[in-house]
Amino acid sequence: MAAHSLPKTPVTLLGLGAMGTALARTWLAAGHPLTVWNRTAARAEPLAAEGAAVAATAAEAVAASPLVVVCLLDDASVEAALDTAVLTGKDVVNLTTTTPSQARARAAWAEARGARYLDGGIMAVPPTIGVPEAGGYVFYSGDQALFDTHAPALAVPAATRYVGTDPGHAALHDVALLSAMYGMFAGTAHAFALIREEDVAPAALAPLLTEWLTAMAAPHIAQTADRLTSGDYTTNVVSNLGMQTAGTPTFLTTAADQGVSPELLTPYFALMRRRLAEGDPKEDLTGVVDLLLR
Ligand code: NDP
Repeated sequence: MAAHSLPKTPVTLLGLGAMGTALARTWLAAGHPLTVWNRTAARAEPLAAEGAAVAATAAEAVAASPLVVVCLLDDASVEAALDTAVLTGKDVVNLTTTTPSQARARAAWAEARGARYLDGGIMAVPPTIGVPEAGGYVFYSGDQALFDTHAPALAVPAATRYVGTDPGHAALHDVALLSAMYGMFAGTAHAFALIREEDVAPAALAPLLTEWLTAMAAPHIAQTADRLTSGDYTTNVVSNLGMQTAGTPTFLTTAADQGVSPELLTPYFALMRRRLAEGDPKEDLTGVVDLLLR
């Protein structure tokens, strides 16, 4: 039998919110037998019309397939949904966003009930699910044999990135990337506020911001990783901590002059000053990472 005509793994999906519905459609389109369950049954109706089997209870849905994917609101809803399901022999893939410690506890909980467990962190939004060129993907961590067994089915909605056997590491990567994103959002909010009352169009600033952040991100991130690895924060530093800290009043005074709150900038500047007081002015900004760990 040719590989493309092998029967597709049956999939059960618990959760038909915005994300679950997007995931469901990709498995249906790829020819996987799909059983779905949602707390509010009406949300399953369109998928039933598209070929999904609709289970009346989560336990019934779990019983229907070897591979059980969960995409619910939070960890509490996962526990509520799986409470009465028989998990023995099941491969549970939990794509619900949680903390790393919740993911580890959920893995132990599922394994104690006889399941293999893989956790996932979705780095995509519903419209990019099933659209490979959009670049979305899912971090996975936990049971490697489960991942290897189901890699083809898991790759249907979005690309996969397996980040190790610790079931908390998918959530850890997810939260790390999103935390960095919020820092970037904070910076762009401040930048737009600075020009808001001036004769500078937001649309004129936008491409400049994008170009600048894109140019700064890769070298800054790579250099920080190199320095954290080597422990050398001072060799070949181009913009040192002493100079950059001396420059911070320029940013704070400009904010004040523009009538803009400095509240998004001051926490980072405070860390720079503390590092300068305790460290070496010839360092770059990597020492801030160490300060955050205290
Ligand atoms: P929605 O709010 O659209 O859907 C939430 C889902 O959880 C619904 O199926 C809802 O059921 C169910 N649910 C909530 N509480 C319970 C409960 N106590 N018991 C059983 N089911 C419950 O969320 P999304 O689909 O957008 O998100 C799902 C997961 O995917 C989240 O963890 C989210 O962080 C993650 N994610 C979402 C992204 C997005 O852009 N949407 C991006 C990346 C990750 P009901 O219909 O009955 O209310």
